Amino acid sequence: MVIAIDGPAGAGKSTVARALARRLGFSYLDSGAMYRCVALAVLRGDPAVALDDDQALGRLAGGLVIEAGERVLLGGEDVTEAIRAPEVSEAASRVAASPSVREAMVAMQRADMADGNWVAEGRDIGTVVAPDAGLKVYLTADAGERARRRAAELGGDAGVVLAEQTLRDARDTSREHSPLRPADDAVQLDTTELDAEQVVDRIVGMVDSRGS
Ligand code: C5P
Repeated sequence: MVIAIDGPAGAGKSTVARALARRLGFSYLDSGAMYRCVALAVLRGDPAVALDDDQALGRLAGGLVIEAGERVLLGGEDVTEAIRAPEVSEAASRVAASPSVREAMVAMQRADMADGNWVAEGRDIGTVVAPDAGLKVYLTADAGERARRRAAELGGDAGVVLAEQTLRDARDTSREHSPLRPADDAVQLDTTELDAEQVVDRIVGMVDSRGS
């Protein structure tokens, strides 16, 4: 079974998806970390690839070996912390607009989730990667609250985080390929007034009521 957790930056996806996977004994897939790995590889510049060169980006992305669970490995190197740098976040939402990169990442994500039970978080899990997912949850929260959470988690000024987040949200929702949007059959959950444990409880309740 796949549980898809989609939504914009800072809606609580990572915290909730990890805790949910632990609670249910499922594996965890962080698809955003995969786009971050592509961005990191581009920023490292070996080989040099422009952020808007779809074909070259796709070739680079297709050649990467990525593991995106609790720890994130790029070609065997632990990049869990390195991919959280602000310049990687910014570059990730740019490489994620490349259709060739998306094709390569979706193929990797589907291969990862071919067997077993998974909680997968991202932007397009319910719409593109796993349209047959047993449960699709779309997490949202007020933009100011999302920025406050990110600033608390990563350090930094909430105003600056809000400005960067607004830019990324705009890019993610307006891109031509697989834009961020809830799947038609997703359950939408506003987490503004909820803590992570309450959100996990509600999702576990949904899983139970579906008889899994
Ligand atoms: O979730 P996270 O902030 O780590 O994702 C980084 C970026 O990767 C997002 O801003 C988005 O542009 C992209 N992404 C995506 N599709 C996914 C997951 C992430 O386009 N399934």
